[in-house]
Amino acid sequence: MRNYLIAGNWKMNKTPSEAAALAKEILPLVKDADYRVMVAPSFVCIPAVASVLKGSNVIVAAQNMAGTESGAFTGETSVLMLKDLGVEMVILGHSERRHIYGETNEQINEKVKLALSHGLSPVLCIGELLEEREAGKAESVCFEQLEKGLVGVSESDMDRVIIAYEPVWAIGTGKTATPEDADAIHAACRKKIASLYSSSVAEKVVIQYGGSMNPSNVKTLMAMENIDGGLIGGASLKADSFAELANFN
Ligand code: PGA
Repeated sequence: MRNYLIAGNWKMNKTPSEAAALAKEILPLVKDADYRVMVAPSFVCIPAVASVLKGSNVIVAAQNMAGTESGAFTGETSVLMLKDLGVEMVILGHSERRHIYGETNEQINEKVKLALSHGLSPVLCIGELLEEREAGKAESVCFEQLEKGLVGVSESDMDRVIIAYEPVWAIGTGKTATPEDADAIHAACRKKIASLYSSSVAEKVVIQYGGSMNPSNVKTLMAMENIDGGLIGGASLKADSFAELANFN
C-alpha cells in the first residue's frame, strides 16, 4: 500500500497566532490518524506552527520556496531558511503560483531539484485549466508539467517526490472532479512515471488529489485505486473538517 498523505494548504490565511491556535486544535484530533498528515502554513506562520507541532505526527511544509539557495533575491525565502525551521516538505508549482505569478515548468523544476538536494520532499502540483480540459488536453498538460517538473530527478530521489493532481477548475470552486475522472488522470500520470522511470517507481509514487476535497467527498475519492491522499485548501482551515479528512477511514 502507498504511503497516503493528507495535507492542508492554508494558503494566505491565518496570522501567526491564529495559525498556532489552529495547529493546537488540530493536533489532538489527528494524533491517531492512520496516514501521514501535513500542514502548510504561510512562511511567516511556520515558526509558530512548527513549535506547536514539534515532536508530533504532523509534518510541517512550506507552500513555496526560491529556486536558489541564497543571495540577492528580494522577497524570496530559501530552502536553508525552511530547513532551519524544521520544514520537511514543500509544495511546488501550485496552480496559483503557475497562473497568478507566472511560474514556469523550468523554474518549478529548479525548485524540485533544490528541495531534494537539501533533503526536503517536494509536492509537485500539476493540473489543467478548464479550457484545457474542454479541449481534451487534460492529460497532455499534466504529462508536460510532470515531465518538465521532474527533469534531472533521479529514480532514487523519486522516493521523496509527491505528486498532487489539482484540476485548476476544481480549486476553491466547490466543483470536484468525479472520482472516476480524477482516477483516470492519476492512472495516466502513473503510466507516464513508469515510462520516465520504472513500473516500481510508478507503483509506489504518492499521487494526491486536490480541488474542493472535503469531508463529504473524501471517502469516495480515496476509494479510487490511484488516489493516495489529498491536498486540501478551504476544508483544511477548520480543525474539525481537517480532522475528518485526516481520519477519513
Ligand atoms: P481547495 O484548494 O481545497 O480549496 O479547492 C486546494 C488547493 O489549492 O491546494
